[in-house]
Amino acid sequence: MGTRSLQGAGREGKDYDFIADCGEDALYLKYCWSCNEDLPLCKFGGDSCKYDGMRGICRDCKSEYDKKYRLKNKNKTSERHKKYYLKNRDKRLAQMKECRLKNKH
Ligand SMILES: [Zn+2]
Repeated sequence: MGTRSLQGAGREGKDYDFIADCGEDALYLKYCWSCNEDLPLCKFGGDSCKYDGMRGICRDCKSEYDKKYRLKNKNKTSERHKKYYLKNRDKRLAQMKECRLKNKH
């Protein structure tokens, strides 16, 4: 019995180039189902507080998706959606804020 140390395990000898740009986040990989790659968390924009259903894809794929989505819905501004958004905006912002505070390192 005792405390097992995980420090230093598996950190060396890997070509994680992105550690330089991403720092600690680079140690945690997340699968992007859009480009089918395991990418460091920093490539996901760090927005784990957003629950819009798109958090399974990386930043690059997200911006691609957004671009397509916007083009597709350009002429279709839904009144209902707008109303829903405005109604829930404060609640959503408060929740996101709370989540961010909780996840602060
Ligand atoms: Zn991706």
